[in-house]
Amino acid sequence: MPELPEVQTTVDGLNLRLKNLTITDIWSSYNSASHAGKDNIKNVLYFKNFRAVVSGAKFLKAERRGKNILIDLSNQHTVLIHMKMTGHLLYGSYNLHKDGGKEIWRPDKNAANEALHDPFNQHLRLVFSLSDGKQLAFSDMRKFAKVFVVPTSEKYTLPDIAELGPDALAKNFTFEKFCEQILKRPNTAIKQVLLDQSLMSGIGNIYSDEMLWAAGIHPLSTPAAIPKNSANQSMNHSLKSLYKEMRIVLERGLHFGGDSESDYRNIDGVPGEFQNKHHAYRHTGEVCAKRGCGGIIQRLKIGGRSAHFCSKHQTRFTSNKKK
Ligand SMILES: [Zn+2]
Repeated sequence: MPELPEVQTTVDGLNLRLKNLTITDIWSSYNSASHAGKDNIKNVLYFKNFRAVVSGAKFLKAERRGKNILIDLSNQHTVLIHMKMTGHLLYGSYNLHKDGGKEIWRPDKNAANEALHDPFNQHLRLVFSLSDGKQLAFSDMRKFAKVFVVPTSEKYTLPDIAELGPDALAKNFTFEKFCEQILKRPNTAIKQVLLDQSLMSGIGNIYSDEMLWAAGIHPLSTPAAIPKNSANQSMNHSLKSLYKEMRIVLERGLHFGGDSESDYRNIDGVPGEFQNKHHAYRHTGEVCAKRGCGGIIQRLKIGGRSAHFCSKHQTRFTSNKKK
């Protein structure tokens, strides 16, 4: 699933490519009976209204809140997109083809952008046609994405946004605030705590594994048992080092254009490179890359999610006191 660095990379791309463009029409092939009556374009009746509200509006700006994309339009409405497991937005030249009774969007044969032909970019379920003759298309292989529109005045009061904890990369998300948030779940595995978007937002499975690896903390450690500061400045294994590594790992993800271990592509259809920088995530059975460690990366299920870690240098801090 796209996490903070991937969503931010997409948002930056939207602001770069869509400035001052008008949405001239919208097409969707989402049609889910289980979404009947819901405020989501997968409900075909809702999509009719969505199309009426959004068509003709100009793109103003995109911003990220946690893993959500908010797109402000000139008509005082905002589109919320959560890419979920396999969704990503693509900008380029597309044509609508009729294949039997089915409508399919395909990249223009002469499109300058070769990356749009990447097989991971072909699951187009939603297409915004734009005033420059190009399209903003949404590829979503597994169809888990969430898309809807609200008046801009309501965007920050939506439960999707209002219930998010502080952004993991926000300047004012200090070490003290980080500890305060984490210690709200003192006896829960740190891996699960990092994934809880109501405590802090933006972190998912990949970056949580990488920051725990870098900080030398075992994913089953419980926050109350982890020392706040490291006894030795050169050593890891503390909340202080976890906070520091959280910022470093997320910044690295951004620097490398996000992570394309799975479906993620930026809006030009190009993969990021962070998947080549992993030390733990999906490195099960490999020798730990930490200098002088020699441990083996292991995999463990925690709360239904896979955690990848080195059992040698990642210390497990747990207290016997159960609350
Ligand atoms: Zn190790």
